[in-house]
Amino acid sequence: MRVGIPGGLLYYRYGRLWNSFLHALGAEVVESGETTRSILTSGVSKAENESCLAIKVFYGHVLALKDKVDALFVPRLVSVKKRTHTCPKMLGLPDMARAAAGDGINIISPTIDFQSGFWHNYRAVYSLGRTFTSNPLRIIGAGITAWREHRLYLERLTLGLDQKRALVGEAGNLLCEGRELRIGVIGHHYNVYDTFTTMSLLERLGSMGADVITADMVPEKLRDEELKRLPKHIYWSYEQEIAGAILACTRHQLVDGIIFMISFPCGPDSIIRVLCEQENKVMGNVPMLTLIMDEHTGEGGFLTRIEAFVDMLRRKKNRVEETREAVAV
Ligand code: SF4
Repeated sequence: MRVGIPGGLLYYRYGRLWNSFLHALGAEVVESGETTRSILTSGVSKAENESCLAIKVFYGHVLALKDKVDALFVPRLVSVKKRTHTCPKMLGLPDMARAAAGDGINIISPTIDFQSGFWHNYRAVYSLGRTFTSNPLRIIGAGITAWREHRLYLERLTLGLDQKRALVGEAGNLLCEGRELRIGVIGHHYNVYDTFTTMSLLERLGSMGADVITADMVPEKLRDEELKRLPKHIYWSYEQEIAGAILACTRHQLVDGIIFMISFPCGPDSIIRVLCEQENKVMGNVPMLTLIMDEHTGEGGFLTRIEAFVDMLRRKKNRVEETREAVAV
């Protein structure tokens, strides 16, 4: 069976896991690849206008694949951590994929829900495996291999390896190499690592002399400590990670500035943004730039804002160093 994995949204987090699992079960896996202008344009023309940019891009990936495969793999991730849920749009993703691709194509969509306990998820993964093979050992083996590869991928991201290299396990330049400035680029994986919609932001920051710290690179322990300090529990799984990373960067002054990447019009992120800005003012007042991207975001305006932000951080840092030297004299 030829199975297509759309290269948008949670692909940036679980793509390695999904590909490895399906491949080990004997499926021929086809990925839609990187986002391109034509993928974005077709997604925008098919998706609901009110959808966020990330969903529109996802639609484009589904359309790019639908005529090339027998089935599309779009899991329904309800919850990936106890006492949290994913965004409502992710809950409805298989239905959106069906609407985009039409009735003629099979959508494989196991439901993963960490609220329902281990056995629910075990059964979901096992019955997914039964779609491809009746050999239980092969299913379990595929699961173990895929999980190992997934952990390795996440570890590489934690070390600061470029996402494309992390995916294939290639050595290469690190995002953080001791450059003059250090900037936290925080957001959902798909808002930070998609080189088309972010206009290669991470690479550009490197060439402007700035190291990049992503949410993956902020130690989990520090993120969790920040979440415990908040007066209210955050209900969205990935927003917990984002808020924890921003607040840890602020409290421990891990960075000179923070860029928060948001897809317009994301509800969860806009709430987290206000929360983080308020906490940031109280804790450390690290300069923070919010970049809200949509399909109309132009390269000129986008780059001007980034350059201005980097210049501002550089001036601030130089001023602080000059003051320190003057005090020492
Ligand atoms: S979390 Fe925000 S950006 Fe992600 S799918 Fe939901 S609305 Fe879109």
